[in-house]
Amino acid sequence: MARYVFITGGVVSSLGKGLASAALGALLQARGHSVRLRKLDPYLNVDPGTMSPTQHGEVFVTDDGAETDLDLGHYERFTGKAATRQDNITTGRIYQNIIAKERRGDYLGGTVQVIPHVTDAIKSFVLEGNEGVDFVLVEIGGTVGDIEGLPFFEAIRQLGNDLPRGDAIYIHLTLLPWIPSAGELKTKPTQHSVKELRSIGIQPDILLCRCDRPIPADERRKLGLFCNVRESAVIEARDVETIYDVPEAYHREGLDTEVLRAFGLEPGPAPDLSRWRTVTHRVKNPEGEVTIAIVGKYTGLKDAYKSLSEALAHGGIANTVKVNLDWIESEIFEREDPAPFLEHVHGILVPGGFGQRGAEGKIRAATFARERKVPYLGICFGMQMAVIEAARNLAGIPDANSTEFGPTPEPLVGLMTEWTKGNQLESRRADGDLGGTMRLGAYEARLKPGSRVADIYGSDDIWERHRHRYEVNAAYRDRLEANGLIFSGMSPDGSLPEIVEYEDHPWFVGVQFHPELKSRPFEPHPLFARFVEAAKAQSRLV
Ligand code: GLN
Repeated sequence: MARYVFITGGVVSSLGKGLASAALGALLQARGHSVRLRKLDPYLNVDPGTMSPTQHGEVFVTDDGAETDLDLGHYERFTGKAATRQDNITTGRIYQNIIAKERRGDYLGGTVQVIPHVTDAIKSFVLEGNEGVDFVLVEIGGTVGDIEGLPFFEAIRQLGNDLPRGDAIYIHLTLLPWIPSAGELKTKPTQHSVKELRSIGIQPDILLCRCDRPIPADERRKLGLFCNVRESAVIEARDVETIYDVPEAYHREGLDTEVLRAFGLEPGPAPDLSRWRTVTHRVKNPEGEVTIAIVGKYTGLKDAYKSLSEALAHGGIANTVKVNLDWIESEIFEREDPAPFLEHVHGILVPGGFGQRGAEGKIRAATFARERKVPYLGICFGMQMAVIEAARNLAGIPDANSTEFGPTPEPLVGLMTEWTKGNQLESRRADGDLGGTMRLGAYEARLKPGSRVADIYGSDDIWERHRHRYEVNAAYRDRLEANGLIFSGMSPDGSLPEIVEYEDHPWFVGVQFHPELKSRPFEPHPLFARFVEAAKAQSRLV
């Protein structure tokens, strides 16, 4: 039987509940237990797939094609275990299922209510599919007190009674703000937050307290006393230098021991954290630095490119260099010469994106990278723009464009349905719904033997995760290849271009998928490892 750890947040949002959950998962794993991490999101969207990256952050795609919360990315990176569509649910999805059942008449005339119907649906989601797992870590999005979170808090409260005694514990993550004028770390917001939690029937077993300095013994005592928590279960979660320090830092503060004790288990020998030490040692002792320009359009919110910045950091770990990221809003290049912005960088990355705004700027970034022989990695939209760039500037197709932006006589990029029907010139939006209708999840690609990517992957058959509606139009393949842009990865049936590269360039690769989603600190993705390696070589030139 699985044991359950429910992780809630209080005081303010953005305290890193996802990271804390992921780090605890890693610690339990390092003690030899199997773990599963899941996220309950109280918002009404059915999934984050339709939400703006600048509001909600990155949409993390699983192998089985679910568009999920970015915390699942932390879970994967910290535990190395691939998440599935069963690891994330929202209020929107719960209600969608309940309403569908109600319309079918499944409730046989009964009144459908938050308690028990919504709470039961949440509980069965939490309990499903956990066979063979020692610990299920369930993170509840938002902070205690949010109106939309109430059914989730109520459901996990009930689970405390439904499950065998001692099989569920509650961890509450809070903030102890430092008030300079008083010279104190304040416990009152935490006291209020726990009061709120207790008023809905949840008594936390462990308090995980974010702070920027050590918690004095007095404050610890006070927290224990007023929050009805043992003093040893008040865990200091101080700011750390790199996120990969978190598991070890929490271990030093006794989090994993306290969790096991709360379940009545003997902690046993210390966990093996050597692989974390290797990672943090490399992060803290770089032998050099490289600067990568990320030319995107959601640069206002770093969370919009969470997995990407992590994957670049992993590339740095692989090469023992620090990777500095230079975030550049692509629209700038529509007004200004890119050269002054890009001359000093050692690599250019054009990430995924949607819509016309900033697209021409990304194309100019690709031109700069190609002409000036700067390493380039184009991801999804970044590959599509590199293909349009090649068509316009090398293959003599000045009108080359993507039908994503409107009708075009030269649809280098278009909807699959458009060009499989023979390159219709009409631009069409996806028919029907925008939610969940893209090409999503893991797909296979065959790599061209002897190509750069085949060498990078050390294989000619790969599986990578996708999230896009548009495709590079294979009908233009011959004209582009004749001008040096090689189609080095294709879908197994040969119809969809998945990777392009230049042979006569130090390092220029465009991929239709999102390799960043599968990179891990202990297992940097080969594309990022080699891209950063190329940037390192470039840094010796500029
Ligand atoms: N907008 C493009 C498409 O839908 C690219 C998507 C992406 O970069 N993830 O195909």
